[in-house]
Amino acid sequence: MNNIDFDRQHIWHPYTSSVSPLPCYEVTGAEGATISLASGETLIDGMSSWWAAIHGYNHPQLNKAAHAQIDAFSHVMFGGLTHDPAVSLCRKLLDMAPPGLSRVFLADSGSVSVEVAIKMAIQYWACQGRAEKHRIVSPRNGYHGDTFAAMSVCDPVNGMHSLFSSVLNTQIFAPAPQTRFDQTFSEDDILPLQELFEQHHHEMAAMILEPVVQGAGGMRIYHPEYLKRARQLCDQYDVLLICDEIATGFGRTGKLFACEHAGISPDIMCLGKALTGGYMTLAATLCTDDVALGVCQGEPGVFMHGPTYMGNPLACAVAGASLDIINEGHWHQQVASIEQWLTDGLKPCLALPAVADMRILGAIGVVETHQAADVATIQRHFVNSGVWIRPFGKLVYIMPPYIISEAQCKTLTSAMYDALRQSV
Ligand SMILES: *Cc1c(COP(=O)(O)O)cnc(C)c1O
Repeated sequence: MNNIDFDRQHIWHPYTSSVSPLPCYEVTGAEGATISLASGETLIDGMSSWWAAIHGYNHPQLNKAAHAQIDAFSHVMFGGLTHDPAVSLCRKLLDMAPPGLSRVFLADSGSVSVEVAIKMAIQYWACQGRAEKHRIVSPRNGYHGDTFAAMSVCDPVNGMHSLFSSVLNTQIFAPAPQTRFDQTFSEDDILPLQELFEQHHHEMAAMILEPVVQGAGGMRIYHPEYLKRARQLCDQYDVLLICDEIATGFGRTGKLFACEHAGISPDIMCLGKALTGGYMTLAATLCTDDVALGVCQGEPGVFMHGPTYMGNPLACAVAGASLDIINEGHWHQQVASIEQWLTDGLKPCLALPAVADMRILGAIGVVETHQAADVATIQRHFVNSGVWIRPFGKLVYIMPPYIISEAQCKTLTSAMYDALRQSV
């Protein structure tokens, strides 16, 4: 049985049926902003492997860091042991993180970092004798991962809450922010959130949100003033603010972290995806001294979470090298250029009858259609056009690696235009 047939019969893929899955394509290599298929085609990558591969594939500096670490040691337990890859990574992270964040919990994936953030927030209040503050408020259209606590704060419709209603914690949902990034902020956007805080603050541990760009829950880009006001409400009502920067972190929106658009710092911040430059899974939950002291005060005095592969040296070494590339600073110009290329390249889509909306921020370009596309058909069209773009629902979107060239980016946007023009 060839690989594709075996895969089809035995291996689960994300968000598709295991019994009659969407087709998938076999990869044999990836280099720079391109992915090579077993069928011989080379595709220009529009997805950065879900926000992760920001520096492109097969990057010499990241490869070098991985090689050096694998020859030293690949892993040791983090209970009672530490090592330079973890310490250097955390030093760099705290140097670049928004002010006030001073402690790092290394987690194995974005979803786990969200679990950790939510556990921290609940334990923080419980340890201060306020166990009734255990619910989380979240804007609709959010996405925070696929594990149970993370699922409980995802958009209730996209997150399939009805399927899991007997086991999911019931959280508090605010309407999604409506004012667009570049519009004049409307007070109506914050009033419902304010009311929720007034009614529920006594039972609210934290608010969790994706700053400025809501990713997998709808690819929506909203006004930073909403975030600023959310920060103020959290301060006013004694609620912790968790910023989930797993998709937006490390320059993607044009700022190093999206919360910088609002000039705010969260109490807890989740990072993942691009943390290792797309090499392997690693995430981090950062928090302030206040949160760390609160969590560890009184009984039990410790935070009960410790993944087996916590602080994996190989992942930390690659992440450290990825942060070095970021600190070289080229991403500023790269992301600004991509923003311009996306604006020029996608603008014509707005005139197409199939297209309902277009949104661009930093190196993120989103076109929303009136009707959901047939994924298998449009995917085939994109592969035939030499690009890797993976739409979902009514959203055809790209967030290419920062190192993409103007010509490659143009190929991506032209392929999107053609697909939407033909309504494939
Ligand atoms: C991808 C994502 C997650 C989940 O991360 P995983 O590594 O897939 O578990 C959480 N929050 C946001 C905003 C994400 O984009």
